[in-house]
Amino acid sequence: MTEHTKIDHSMDNLDDTTSSTSGPTVLEKSKPRSEKMASNKVECNACPVLCQITDGRTGACDRWGNEDGNLVRIDPVILMRRLDDTGLATRHEPVAGDAPEGLVNARTRDVEANAVSDPNDLFVSGIGSGTTYPDYKPAPFIVSSKANDVDMVTVVTEGIFSYCSFKVKIDTDRYLGPEQSNIRFKGEIVGHVTTAEYGSQMLSLGGVHHLTGGSKKEGRMTCDMMMALGNKEAVELSIDGGAQLVVQAGKAPIVDGVEEKRMRVGCGSAAIGIFAKQWFGHTDEVVVVDDHITGVLSEHQAGRCLDIPPTGIKMKGRKSTPGRYFQVANPGNGWGGTDISDPLAIIEGFNPDVAWPGLRMLITSTTGEHAEYYELDEDLKPQRKPMPDALQKTVERIGENCEPSLASVLFLAGAGGSLRAGVTENPIWLTNSIKTSLVNVTCGGAPAYIWPGGGITVMVDVLRMPDNSFGYVPTPAIVAPIEFSMKLDDYTRLGGHADAVRSIQDVVEKDRHRIIEWHDENSPWPLGHKPMLA
Ligand code: SF4
Repeated sequence: MTEHTKIDHSMDNLDDTTSSTSGPTVLEKSKPRSEKMASNKVECNACPVLCQITDGRTGACDRWGNEDGNLVRIDPVILMRRLDDTGLATRHEPVAGDAPEGLVNARTRDVEANAVSDPNDLFVSGIGSGTTYPDYKPAPFIVSSKANDVDMVTVVTEGIFSYCSFKVKIDTDRYLGPEQSNIRFKGEIVGHVTTAEYGSQMLSLGGVHHLTGGSKKEGRMTCDMMMALGNKEAVELSIDGGAQLVVQAGKAPIVDGVEEKRMRVGCGSAAIGIFAKQWFGHTDEVVVVDDHITGVLSEHQAGRCLDIPPTGIKMKGRKSTPGRYFQVANPGNGWGGTDISDPLAIIEGFNPDVAWPGLRMLITSTTGEHAEYYELDEDLKPQRKPMPDALQKTVERIGENCEPSLASVLFLAGAGGSLRAGVTENPIWLTNSIKTSLVNVTCGGAPAYIWPGGGITVMVDVLRMPDNSFGYVPTPAIVAPIEFSMKLDDYTRLGGHADAVRSIQDVVEKDRHRIIEWHDENSPWPLGHKPMLA
């Protein structure tokens, strides 16, 4: 039997004499690969493309350029100014039924440099910081500052991510397409429909196989789509065998040309449970149409608890448990995420031994957007009648309880590879220091959720990041900011590049930068906080 090797990655085992190796001298700029490169060009080595850039021009990704023979990062590095102890700001609360405009969006505003009295109120983000691919040298910014009188270090880079994707949650009951269906952007497959969640359809977009595993065009389209989505732009997608979509972070999704308004209050069964008491006495039967579970009041446990008598209603579909029916219709863009436009299509009839002429029945969708009232005639056929006021109020109450429909866009990426070498000579200590809450991880200042298990798999809501945080390189891969913040002592102990540490004051004085105020009440100031672990 083979015994597993026990590996101790504890920093306590760190031997000071070997923690910082005296290795070869690393050239700041490598010799150009082509001896024939024109003298007015510089070679960019910030990604494997190795662009040779002519004076006054930029490289293929427009991030680096040749300025008088020097390789420069075109955009200034973004510094964030802290405004108070909590980290700031205003978050608009959704209004039921409204098409939301820029909800929960981190907002930014430029700040004059002379408005900053204490550089310790600044945080260096990865946005515009540059890359030191393949991280054979320290990260572009390793910056010391003080937080609550404690010496801190923030290590900042623009990560180049091939292993990355966007998980998109679309609050809608409408049928977007079968699970596992391909999703296309400008004709190319860029993702798939994944498992639906409560009240929402889920998409998985991008990822390494679409970026690099298919044709060049597929990779390019995937990269374009991902960058646009990350930068909070609207993206048009089509689902094979399903809907045409327009998706934009924080905005209402548009499904087949119709802007979605409301997220359902719950499934049909949940709606019966929520509203049963409010219907009591005003109607004899209620059917809540839902693609997942259609609810029937008189049979449902909530109806039984109110002693509502049977109505003899016979439903189509497959009975799950009392008052709960699956598959009453096909999925679609009609009532309750089904394909029906006439709600009577899901009712087979009424048992004449039980039902009676004049029986009152409300049929509603799970959002209250569709609702009709019927009474049975002498032949026990439902006849449409004007909705009584008391029932109209309950339908409006369903609508009031629906949250606005939004598209939420989360960036998911693996940072457990070579970029760790820009932080420390011992990458596993960075990984372990995050898992033991010594190192906070943020993306453009926004808190990044760290997945459990191995590696540094981060997930961040793009709405909490400043605008235009994402870039690309034509390998193709996505460029995204990432920051690791920790105490200076811990940085030294985990084998950090201590010689490369600069003060925040030095960055402000010497580096081209832009200072922004960054508003998001749910994002704590990155320094002095623990990482968001599982
Ligand atoms: S594509 Fe790569 S090599 Fe070319 S400029 Fe951009 S980062 Fe530099």
